[in-house]
Amino acid sequence: MGNAKAFLSINRKEAGYRPVLDRITDFGEVEQTLNSEDRQLQASRCMECGVPFCHWACPLDNLIPEWQDLLYKGKWAEAYGILISRNNFPEFTGRVCPALCEKSCVLNLEHEPLTVRENEAAIAEHAFLEGYVKPNPPQQRTGKKVAVVGSGPAGLAVADMLNRKGHSITVFEKDEYIGGLLRLGIPDFKLNKEIITRRIDLLKAEGIKFETGKEVGKDLSTKDLLAKYDAICLTTGAGVPRDLPVEGRELKGIYFALDFLKQQNRLVSGQTIPAAERISAKGKKVLVIGGGDTGSDCVGTSIRQKAASVIQIEIMPVPPEGTNPATPWPSYPNVLKTSTSHLEGCERRWSLATKRFIGEKGKVTGVEVADQLTGQTTVIPVDLVLLSMGFTQPVHEGLLDELGVKYDARGNVEAVKPNQSSIGKVFVAGDVTSGASLVVRAIASGRQAAKEIAAYLS
Ligand SMILES: Cc1cc2nc3c(=O)[nH]c(=O)nc-3n(C[C@H](O)[C@H](O)[C@H](O)COP(=O)(O)OP(=O)(O)OC[C@H]3O[C@@H](n4cnc5c(N)ncnc54)[C@H](O)[C@@H]3O)c2cc1C
Repeated sequence: MGNAKAFLSINRKEAGYRPVLDRITDFGEVEQTLNSEDRQLQASRCMECGVPFCHWACPLDNLIPEWQDLLYKGKWAEAYGILISRNNFPEFTGRVCPALCEKSCVLNLEHEPLTVRENEAAIAEHAFLEGYVKPNPPQQRTGKKVAVVGSGPAGLAVADMLNRKGHSITVFEKDEYIGGLLRLGIPDFKLNKEIITRRIDLLKAEGIKFETGKEVGKDLSTKDLLAKYDAICLTTGAGVPRDLPVEGRELKGIYFALDFLKQQNRLVSGQTIPAAERISAKGKKVLVIGGGDTGSDCVGTSIRQKAASVIQIEIMPVPPEGTNPATPWPSYPNVLKTSTSHLEGCERRWSLATKRFIGEKGKVTGVEVADQLTGQTTVIPVDLVLLSMGFTQPVHEGLLDELGVKYDARGNVEAVKPNQSSIGKVFVAGDVTSGASLVVRAIASGRQAAKEIAAYLS
């Protein structure tokens, strides 16, 4: 252990964000970086607790105290080695994880947890910069073939783990890009897409094959897949967005959040969207319905598109600030979260249920909302509404129905044995079986599925 008492004298120091007026003019990442000296000092704050609650809270069982110690001592390469032993993609989680570990850090009892997420990103970036992340293809191939359907974090983790064991992996992806929601859902200002390309290039160099623009169940038959591969892993995500079927839903100007976000990600990648299909917030009064993270991504995107105003509403009451006795340490606290996007100029309102959409000449012009506490109704004037109320289940039509997999009560693919569907050689990982969740959970689920598939193949 490095510096046993550092936490007593060194305060938490975050890298911080680019100034608002600068960052809203582009889609570059908003988070800044600390210099190496400060970063190592931040790592020294780890108390190396006898019972590391950070490790307990992390779905990946990340060996957090171990790599803090190495980072503090400036052993960056060794720190990366330990980090990567539990997390295939620390450069993703280091940017977008809500850091369950930090909420359970013992230092959080004083509201000054270790900067675990930032430390993780710093170690990963250092590793790429110093050039010690190199392709490491397996020495031998087993002759077994595995198809992974879906290239989000769960699919990438399954592919990476099984490829390391020498199995031959093909990842099928219906979109034109690899990465799932990392690539087309999460905005560039949270995760620069070059970061994904850099990792995919490594996976390709290690022998994983990727077939993009291939929707299994449509462009490729499930029969062929079952016949050609020794095992299949479904990692197709939870693609059905929650709708709001109230009066006026058919009006123009009401869209699902992901349709809006996908377009912007494609635009940042240099694609053009035909004018008739373009969902633009420019000059518009935008209402985001749903107070979660996807909603917050819509806020940041609308602001960058130069919306006239942005309001985000949520049906639930405003959560408490700071701490919540209902969710005490070390559990993940249900408290008010303010994202970088919220700080860029958005009004947030709570306890509001949407009653109906109001329109003129077929276009939405207002949304009637009712205060959940008083019952009082008001109309919010709008030009664009983004529905951001989460996802209900995976898409059943096509691949899943064709395969005939069993669903659980929530419509997710049921794992009748750990990570195994009701069809023998068909395995599952990520949101398709858990329901919409987090990148860190998708990676953990992919790693677990890979273990089960490897056991099945042997
Ligand atoms: C806007 C948004 C922002 C988010 N931000 C965060 C965040 O900041 N932090 C965080 O931890 N989590 C975040 N999440 C959640 C996180 O992105 C997901 O939990 C995670 O990506 C799930 O991974 P997955 O691999 O299971 O599925 P996905 O990432 O959804 O990937 C599934 C892939 O399967 C493909 N596919 C589907 N059907 C087929 C088919 N038949 N054939 C071929 N391919 C198919 C899809 O095109 C997709 O690429 C966010 C989600 C959204 C929507």
